[in-house]
Amino acid sequence: MKKYQLPTLEDKMNIHNTIHHRSKGLCNHIDMMRIVGNTIKKYGVTKIPVFDYNVKILQNTKVKINGEFVDIPVISIEGTQMSDQCPVCKRETETGYLLTQEENFDKDYDIVVVNCLECGCMYSTKGDNHRKYALAAKEC
Ligand SMILES: [Zn+2]
Repeated sequence: MKKYQLPTLEDKMNIHNTIHHRSKGLCNHIDMMRIVGNTIKKYGVTKIPVFDYNVKILQNTKVKINGEFVDIPVISIEGTQMSDQCPVCKRETETGYLLTQEENFDKDYDIVVVNCLECGCMYSTKGDNHRKYALAAKEC
């Protein structure tokens, strides 16, 4: 049986801080996916637990950087608690958008993963369904 090494605290912190930087706009989305993806790949798996959520590589995508196509892992964050406010701060603080977890074609909201800019907690919440608004605007 193949034994997998558990992710170290250092690697978990690195992933968590990278995602937090991303939500604060301190690094771009591609850098975040690349750093998180490379850390996951170190363990020979596609998904690792980080504190109270998981990060997962969904697939690779080709992105043009400096005129060259580079493979970038598409990262998903799963297992985050659903909440209208930060589950740690218990108030509606400013959040940074990270990614869309679930697209709803029949509702006026999507489920998005956000990062509390106060404490760094990551959670899922209802976000505006821009696709629906865009479609409605087209129909006018
Ligand atoms: Zn918070």
